[in-house]
Amino acid sequence: MSKLFVISGSSGVGKGTVIKEFLARHSEIKLSISCTTRMPREGEVDGVNYFFLDKNKFEECVKNEEFLEWAEFSGNCYGTKKTFVEGCLQKGEKLILEIDTKGALNVKKIMPEAVLIFIAPPSIEELEARLRGRHTETEEAIQKRLASIKLEIENSKHFDYQVVNDTVENAVQQLETIICK
Ligand code: 5GP
Repeated sequence: MSKLFVISGSSGVGKGTVIKEFLARHSEIKLSISCTTRMPREGEVDGVNYFFLDKNKFEECVKNEEFLEWAEFSGNCYGTKKTFVEGCLQKGEKLILEIDTKGALNVKKIMPEAVLIFIAPPSIEELEARLRGRHTETEEAIQKRLASIKLEIENSKHFDYQVVNDTVENAVQQLETIICK
């Protein structure tokens, strides 16, 4: 029985909300805390949401092979510490990694027992409408996001499961079927 679950999903798909709701119902399941070079957003806490590292420190970790996987995403680096994952698995805990699809496929190469789950939008058209509805981004930024979403969907063809986020409740129930069975 696998203990390691990797969840990926395009930005704007509501992946964060689904995972948060799932974890609220299953406090025995842990969420991995990644390292990143991006700046904390408002309300984010070091050691809770991420370990926020500067570029030099991150590069040192890469050089010392401390990451199970790492990737560059939107100009920032993100990585999963080996010690974090190994520590949880040794304790027999189920662990979720919330990482991008490229990182997920890298984890699968190293740990084939990992279960990859993609949280998909009901449709790409709906996701585009949602992104535009925010009115927070330029057309260029939206196009860039859509291109990366299409790439993520392409990568997700190699995933074990696709969970369509039509409603949060449905998506959480599907996660329960996959992870808690
Ligand atoms: P955000 O900056 O919005 O928190 O995250 C941006 C992207 O980086 C998301 O797709 C998230 O899943 C991904 N991400 C977060 N941590 C990691 C990690 O440790 N490794 C990889 N490959 N991606 C990550």
